[in-house]
Amino acid sequence: MRRTRVVATIGPASWDPVTLQSVFDAGADVFRLNYSHGEPEQKTELYERIRSMETETRKTCILADLPGPKLRLGEFSGVRLLNNGDNIRFLCGKKVHDGDELPVEYDGLSSELSPGDSVLIADGLIRLSVVKTGGERGSFVDCLVEDGGPVTSRKGINLPGTTIDLPAIGEKDKLALDHALKTGADWIAVSYVRSAEDLRPAKDAVKAAGLHTPIIAKIEHPAALKNLHSILDTADAVMVARGDLGVEIPLERVPLAQQMIIDAGLMRGMVVIVATQMLESMTLNPRPTRAEVSDVSTAIRQGSTAVMLSGETASGNHPVAAVETMTRIATATEEGLDSSGGTPGVLSKFRSTRAVAHAGVELARASGAKHIIVATQHGNAPRLVTGYRPDVVVTAVTDRIRAARRMNLLPGVQSVIVEEHERGSQTMQNAIRMIAEEGSIKAGDRIVAISGSPLAMRGATSTVRLYRMEADGSISGTE
Ligand code: PGA
Ligand code: MN
Repeated sequence: MRRTRVVATIGPASWDPVTLQSVFDAGADVFRLNYSHGEPEQKTELYERIRSMETETRKTCILADLPGPKLRLGEFSGVRLLNNGDNIRFLCGKKVHDGDELPVEYDGLSSELSPGDSVLIADGLIRLSVVKTGGERGSFVDCLVEDGGPVTSRKGINLPGTTIDLPAIGEKDKLALDHALKTGADWIAVSYVRSAEDLRPAKDAVKAAGLHTPIIAKIEHPAALKNLHSILDTADAVMVARGDLGVEIPLERVPLAQQMIIDAGLMRGMVVIVATQMLESMTLNPRPTRAEVSDVSTAIRQGSTAVMLSGETASGNHPVAAVETMTRIATATEEGLDSSGGTPGVLSKFRSTRAVAHAGVELARASGAKHIIVATQHGNAPRLVTGYRPDVVVTAVTDRIRAARRMNLLPGVQSVIVEEHERGSQTMQNAIRMIAEEGSIKAGDRIVAISGSPLAMRGATSTVRLYRMEADGSISGTE
């Protein structure tokens, strides 16, 4: 089984039912919905469409990506071509505007900028320099086009070197978060995190809703690199968001930043997603460049647990081929990977569950067990197990579909939904029988089972048992 998870961003190129199904069939483990585009309610139907593809054995996982305090152009119709040497005026505090000027909703833009500053649009493809600002809030900014190109509605704007005075979770984020939690998103990604504090509002909202939805911190601002360790201590997972990071810091520093973020995530046994431009040329072409193939493979060998497709699947010409290509690269890379297993050094949360998870992974290694089975209610125990990067398949046993969906982002985890029984060992033996019936457990195989006791899922994770599947179908090692 492929361990590395593939995240596919869903957009106009992939949201029709037929393409969506093909993207799922091609191996997408997680569907990312980008709340920067469209109104939240417009996504409700897409959630339903994604869930409708679920089968008995394969659940879907939805990652809701919040817009965050990122500046964007306002709305206008069509494509505007900016030519080198053109003068262009931004109208600040305007949401929609058609005319010679370009609208920017953020009314503070004119007071953030001074003549000579750079303004970058569309992940840095277009570069302008500031000539004159209107001074007061809600005024204008005049720029000279240095590197031109086409711009469309809602494209991102970066002002490298500035920390914009916007809250981590603004009005648009609140609506997005509210919709995502209400509609059943499995993971929430917080954009443009600058400090651990920026994760607080999302965490509080999850808690207030009575949910356990884990939070992904997107690292895409220089301040996040500075505060990396405290951010990772607060988040449940991390994304190397290279699109904005590569504009906010010099491009040539992105590879080392990527390694640094992965290392910090590995140390904590976290899910680490590497994102943006991984197979960028496939937006247009049916096959990637050698450099892109190498980039995906490198991210996996560096220790990331998931790789992400953005424009390739959201708006590209070959969304299905992009997913197929990515899964093939992941599978081939894992074949050559020595998964001697990382050992997380920083044990901040769930200390006792972590200790039991660690014991289970070590026991599997020592005994040559081919399977690790973990009982879970919310998906935390399997998450901690994968933190020790076991080299065998991890089967998570749960009685909750929400946990099963969430676990699609965990490396090398497959989930099985069963009912909780009174005695933990009974639940685990039933699960072993179920998996054996599917054919993945063979006679003579050793199995490590991690659970709570006496209840398998609801109790605190406290028990590690070693079982063996006998030729007559009985399970030995039981009391
Ligand atoms: P985005 O985040 O696609 O939402 O901008 C990812 C990135 O910046 O790389
Ligand atoms: Mn970004």
